Amino acid sequence: MHKPHSTFLLFALILGILFAVVASPVAAQESEFRLSVNRNFGYSSGAEIRGSFTLAVVGPETIQSVTYLLDGEPIDTISAAPFKLVFQTGDYPFGNHTLSARVQTSDGRTLTTPERVFIFATAEQESAAIRRILGPMGGILVGIVVLVGLSMFLGTRKKPLVQLPPGTPRKYSLSGGGICRHCHRPVPLHWWGINAGVGKYDRCDLCGKWSIFRRVPRQELEAAEAAELAQAQSKPEPSSKSEDEKMRDLLEDSRYTDRL
Ligand SMILES: [Zn+2]
Repeated sequence: MHKPHSTFLLFALILGILFAVVASPVAAQESEFRLSVNRNFGYSSGAEIRGSFTLAVVGPETIQSVTYLLDGEPIDTISAAPFKLVFQTGDYPFGNHTLSARVQTSDGRTLTTPERVFIFATAEQESAAIRRILGPMGGILVGIVVLVGLSMFLGTRKKPLVQLPPGTPRKYSLSGGGICRHCHRPVPLHWWGINAGVGKYDRCDLCGKWSIFRRVPRQELEAAEAAELAQAQSKPEPSSKSEDEKMRDLLEDSRYTDRL
C-alpha cells in the first residue's frame, strides 16, 4: 500500500512538470501583442510627444477588437481591422501618461500590451526642445560667419604687395583670375573675395587696390601675361622710374615726335 502511493505522487509530479512546460508558452502569450505609437504630425523627442499620433497593436492576426487605454482608462474600442486609433495629445492634460491596449482575440482571450510611458508636452516644452536642438546649430552657424569674416579681415590686412616681374606665369586657384582695373595686370582672385554679382570685389595682390574683378578665362589671362612681357621688353624697367621720370620720358617722346 505504501509503495503504490509514492508511485502515484511521482506520477503526479511528472504530470505537473509536463503541464507547466506545455502551459508556459500560453502564459508567455500575454506579451505577444505590443502597442505602437506613430506620429502623424507634431513633435516627438524621447518620451515627449505633442500632436497627432496613431495607436496600433503589433502582433498575430488573431485580433477581434482593441481597446486603447490612457492611464488604464479606455479611450476607445476599435472592432474593425486595422484596429488603429488616431488621437491628439492636446485632448488630454499635459504631463506623464501611460498608453496601452487591451486586445480581444478571436479565440476569446483578453490580452493587455505592456504599458508605455509618455509625456504629453506643452507648446513651451516643444519649443524648448527645438531650441535645445537648434541652439548648437545656430552657434555653429554664427561661428562659421565669424570665422569667414575673420579670415577675410586677415586676408585683406595690409599685406606686403607681391613683387611679380612682368610676364611671370601666375598660379590661379579655383577662384580663377581677372584683370585689375588699376594696374591692368592679370592677377589671381581670392576665395574670400566678395561676390558682387557682376564680378568679385577683390584686392589686387600686385597694386593692393580693391575693385570689382570680372572673372576672365584662362586663355585671356595667359594672353595678358604675354602682353605684359612684350610691353616690358619694349619699355625696359618701367617700375624703376618715378612718376616724374615717366612724365619727363613722355615729354621727351613728344618732343622727338615734334622734331619729326
Ligand atoms: Zn592691381
